[in-house]
Amino acid sequence: MKAAVLEDLNNMVVKEVEVPDIDEESMLVRVRACAVCGSDIRIFRHGNPRVHPPQIIGHEIAGEVVEVGSNVKGFKVGDRVAIGADVPCGECEWCQNGLGNNCGINYAIGYQFPGGFAEYVVLNPITVRFGPVHKISGDLSFEEAALAEPLACCINGLELSRLGLGEAVVIIGAGPAGCMLAQLSKVMGASKVIMSQRSKKRLQLAKKFKADILISASEENFVDRVLKETGGKGADVVVTACASSQAQEEALLVVKNRGRVNFFRQI
Ligand SMILES: [Zn+2]
Ligand SMILES: [Zn+2]
Repeated sequence: MKAAVLEDLNNMVVKEVEVPDIDEESMLVRVRACAVCGSDIRIFRHGNPRVHPPQIIGHEIAGEVVEVGSNVKGFKVGDRVAIGADVPCGECEWCQNGLGNNCGINYAIGYQFPGGFAEYVVLNPITVRFGPVHKISGDLSFEEAALAEPLACCINGLELSRLGLGEAVVIIGAGPAGCMLAQLSKVMGASKVIMSQRSKKRLQLAKKFKADILISASEENFVDRVLKETGGKGADVVVTACASSQAQEEALLVVKNRGRVNFFRQI
C-alpha cells in the first residue's frame, strides 16, 4: 500500500509499505478519508514523545472495514466506520470509568499506533475493543465522517464548559475548531455567539457559520467589543480555539463573574 510515513522531523515520505497483517482480534480498514489535525502539524514540525518515527500519523479517519479477525465481535466486512484518536487502555481507573482521555498510558491512533495517512490502517485488539471506532450510516460521506473526531472534541469541550440555554459564548479563533464550536454553541442553545479572529481570510470563511457577531481582532479592540456586546458583564462561556498566549490572557478579561473559561486544546 501507499503510505505517508513520517521519517523524521519535517520529513514525510510517500512510499510503498506492506499492508499490515491482522490477527484474530484485529481488523483492517481501508482509509477513504483522513483529515489533517493541528496536532499532526505539530508532530511533523516538533515531534511528540508518544510518536517514534518512522511512523504513519493521522487520526481523523473514515473508511470501510475490509478484513475482520475471527474473534472480533460487532464489526463485519463492509461496515463504514469513523475512527478517532485516543484509545483507552481499558484497565486503569480512568479507562474503567469511561474517562479514557485521562489515561496515563494515553495510547492513540497516529501516535503509538499507526495512523490514517495510508491506504489501510490496522485496528489492533485494544483499539477494536475500547477505541473510538463507530459505524456510520450510508448517507454520511467519508469526508464528513473523518471530522467526527474534532467534532467530538468540540462537543466535549462545550459540555465540560456547562454551556446552558440562553447564555452568551465567546469563541476566540475561527479556524476549523472555532467554526465547529460556534455552530455547536447555537445548537446547544446559546443566545449570542461572538467569534473573533485576526486573519481576514479566516474571518471571511467563518461567515458561513452561525456566529451572531464576528470580530475582526486585527481591526478593533476585542475586549472592548465583547464587553459592549454583553452589557459590560462579559460572556458566560469563553473558549480559546487558538494557541496564542494573548488569547488565553484576554479570555480572562471577557468572562462574566462566575462564568467559565475553556482553554480548549484538541488532540
Ligand atoms: Zn485531531
Ligand atoms: Zn487507561
